[in-house]
Amino acid sequence: MSSVKSSKWFNPSVSRRTFLKVSGTLASAAAISPVFTKSKSASAAPVNAMLKTGENPPDPVESEEDIIYSVCQMCHSRCGVRAKVVDGVLVKIDGNPYHPNNRDVDENNAPDRLPYSTDPVGAHTEIGRMCLKGQSGIQTVYDPYRVQHPLKRVGPRNAGQWETISWGQAFSEIAAKINALIPAAEREQLIDPARPELGKKKNLLGFAPGRSVEKEMSERIWKHAWGTANYGLSHTSICEVSRHVGNELITWDPNGSKNSMGAGRTEGWQADILGSEYIIYFGANPLEADFPMVGLARNLMQFKRNGGKYVSVDPRFNNTAAQAHQWVPITPGTDAALAMGMINWMIEHNAYNATYLMNANKAAADADGEPTWTDSTYLVGTFTDSDGKTFQRYITAMEAGIADGETVMGNDYVVWFGGAMAGANAVIHGDLEVMQTVELDLGGTPTEVSVKSSFSLLKESALSMSRTDYANICDVSLATLEGLAAEFVGHGKKATAITYRGPIKHTNGLHAQLAIQHLNTLIGNYDWKGGCTAGGGGWNHKSGVVNLSKVAGDPGHEGIRIDRAKTFYNAEEAGSLFTGYPAKRPWFPFGTHGNYQEVIPSIQDSYPYGMKALITFWNAWPYSTPSLRKVWEETVADENKLPLLVSISPVIGEVAAWADYVLPDSVYLEKFSVPGIPWRVNKGSAFQRPVVGAFDDKPIGVSPLNGGVGNSIPVNATNRFTPALPDTKAVLDIHIGLAKALGLPGVGDNALLDDAGNPVGHLHNSWDWAKAMLQNLANSAQGKYPGISVEEILSKGGVFDNPTEEYTGQQLSYQYANIIRTFIDPIAKTRDSITGEYYKGTPHYAPVAHSDGSPISDAGFPLKMITYKTVHHGQARTNINPWLMLSIPENPVEISAADAADLEIETGDEVRVRSASNTAGITGKALVTQRLKPGVIAISHHYGHWEQHARAHVINGDVAGNDPSRGAGLQPTQIMRTDKMNPNVSLQEPVGGSCSFYDTWVKVEKV
Ligand code: SF4
Repeated sequence: MSSVKSSKWFNPSVSRRTFLKVSGTLASAAAISPVFTKSKSASAAPVNAMLKTGENPPDPVESEEDIIYSVCQMCHSRCGVRAKVVDGVLVKIDGNPYHPNNRDVDENNAPDRLPYSTDPVGAHTEIGRMCLKGQSGIQTVYDPYRVQHPLKRVGPRNAGQWETISWGQAFSEIAAKINALIPAAEREQLIDPARPELGKKKNLLGFAPGRSVEKEMSERIWKHAWGTANYGLSHTSICEVSRHVGNELITWDPNGSKNSMGAGRTEGWQADILGSEYIIYFGANPLEADFPMVGLARNLMQFKRNGGKYVSVDPRFNNTAAQAHQWVPITPGTDAALAMGMINWMIEHNAYNATYLMNANKAAADADGEPTWTDSTYLVGTFTDSDGKTFQRYITAMEAGIADGETVMGNDYVVWFGGAMAGANAVIHGDLEVMQTVELDLGGTPTEVSVKSSFSLLKESALSMSRTDYANICDVSLATLEGLAAEFVGHGKKATAITYRGPIKHTNGLHAQLAIQHLNTLIGNYDWKGGCTAGGGGWNHKSGVVNLSKVAGDPGHEGIRIDRAKTFYNAEEAGSLFTGYPAKRPWFPFGTHGNYQEVIPSIQDSYPYGMKALITFWNAWPYSTPSLRKVWEETVADENKLPLLVSISPVIGEVAAWADYVLPDSVYLEKFSVPGIPWRVNKGSAFQRPVVGAFDDKPIGVSPLNGGVGNSIPVNATNRFTPALPDTKAVLDIHIGLAKALGLPGVGDNALLDDAGNPVGHLHNSWDWAKAMLQNLANSAQGKYPGISVEEILSKGGVFDNPTEEYTGQQLSYQYANIIRTFIDPIAKTRDSITGEYYKGTPHYAPVAHSDGSPISDAGFPLKMITYKTVHHGQARTNINPWLMLSIPENPVEISAADAADLEIETGDEVRVRSASNTAGITGKALVTQRLKPGVIAISHHYGHWEQHARAHVINGDVAGNDPSRGAGLQPTQIMRTDKMNPNVSLQEPVGGSCSFYDTWVKVEKV
């Protein structure tokens, strides 16, 4: 192993000077000053000037001691980080060469990722790829405006006035306020004894993470130690929920536990790009915004070099479209029509894999060499309920009178075979096309019921319109639609149709996801090389040695969440909670990822109950959520509506600005986590660890802390981690501190338990937690790498498969290997809480609509607005990175050349964009482009912040520094369409609760 470098032990004051010096060096040429100094202008010289004066000399040649592996969190791709840390200062970020996002194959398709056995001593010269966001993460660490001490509000909320307090004061005051609002003696009492289903008063505290990272800790504290049902009011419904929910419904397990009807087996499908020949990306932008972007983008370019062809279906000619073989500029909100038109063509031309679809069960699939099978042959009946409403559902063997308790069980699915009904598990194949009337035993009453196979229902839906009609709806030529279908079926199983936000962030997004995903089902490409992969997943870091969710004295959690996710609406029971149809606010029994946009409006309406305390983390609610800002400000300004608001955040963002307390979180390069690697065909678990800061007061990057490579953490030390800003804390430590102040179980001596509940360790700080995760990982990975140690995981940045392990023959090594459902039985049995109608269980196209089903007809607003992510920004937080802001200082209002000509608008003109929901509108500069479908305007996300230190705050009586350039540009969420039935929330998809981003009609005028 490596030699020991010169010793220069940690001195907090030196460290802080170093921090501020680096902050100044890395800050933009615009005005900067640290958050606790008085405001001053242009105090830092431009980077170039510093280079000339030699203040920032070239980096020394790196050695293995300088290299530390961690995980990037600048976007959701979670690439591996190779941090170069010299004398305690992070000077460069590259990609981890062991990590599958950062290195995969070279231009000759030879593996270029390091085999896992590669000795890290020699690997320090190896570099993986990283995008510009990832590289600029250095400025996230050394952001001169980071909050450096806990802050307590002075004056009214959002006054921008603060005082600094100690952590001890912060924890004890917050705990005292929570205890006063929800006294310990009352926590186990019902919110409303007349409505026990609401749960107990402990539900009046909520934890709202904008991002579900480090959630094992937050769930440990708020779910298992405090016991609130509102332990994870997370952001996913403003992100990609209809994709997740659609995929979960396609893979639904009736015995799962997401709601009383079951749970999905997997939430995502991605293309096995390198094995594929043809890919259609519906509203996905893997060269800029999809995830894991770095891995997908590189794979996609190699796919092209290998002769692959891909299509971009998107109203905007983005980077992915620019490299595509075909760009299909579709009308926003009509992707389901394109997919259903393609299904129409495939069925009419018998261009689907009938044998695969006829396999009725796992045994049939096994015999056919298929990893998966479908419900295509299962019989679905049409029934009428006591209100006279018709609905559909699978029929059972019991009802069909064919259950014998041996080969056919009572709840088995039923197929049509040999002219009669048969148990789905008792046959090889069922008939694919079935339309029969059969006699069923419905509760002892013989009843004639019309039944059809799932495939027949899909066919009926696809053929309910002509291909010309479908093409007209999405404004795509018939030849294009049919050409896509013909090409898609021309590659065997080596073709995929993949979605991301484009098709799904609409009120009809769930069925867009279902329709597009079933293009894959019709060719049976799941788990095949070149087909759809659910991803290789990772090793278990949650249990095995230490069970991270086990808490002695766990009080349990129950009751209805404030966003009414995962709970069925009980319209039959009249009263203040259940009011028949329409419900006071919508319910989302299949909102398996929660409903972020409903939380604040629900608090405003106190439905189903109010909220006493809200603790937020990594949260930009009023900035990121469509049309929420006004509702947020009205609600949060009223301390009777929300008596306590705590923000865990490294900066004063749009949420923190309104908080009663701001607890300064460390940033991602000062944290421990195992955040998972999304949608790779490989298996891998990257370990996120601090690359700056100190352990036991010994700074990372100054001396090899363990005498080893990459400044390994002293695994056996008693240990305590301190971030680079020494009076900030990692969110893990903040949780432990809050839990101790509240007197909760699950922290302290002997708090860590094994799976059997035996004490196996203390939980006093984030390193205790990190060690538990590492021990679990090492334990779990023994099967793959016998003898693997915690030290090895740290020295390589995680545990990863070796290159070339992706395939086993012509199939993927990691498989879903279960049922694919074309008929979504659980939703077809469920009535919408607003309309009272049953949801449809078969994919179809329906126009975008309000929650009552009425069309969105905003006369006088002729253009449809879409948003997008740029490659140089990630979500709502990268406006603090000068390198990224300097690349494009503000975002424009993109308008097609045709529309601009009609409106006499030219590039650079100041324009106002109004909607029916925000007639005052937002203003920005026009960019006239040919790269946009006429009738559509596009405004990117990321810009238009009003906080994050774009605005000056006063701290301890002094005006702290700010940088107005962080507020450049405009934010389209501010004008997005609200729902007619509940005008304090955006439009949303009714089944899974995904909020709409692309259904707003606007008017653009020159200012
Ligand atoms: S794609 Fe995302 S995770 Fe990967 S390097 Fe870029 S910002 Fe970091």
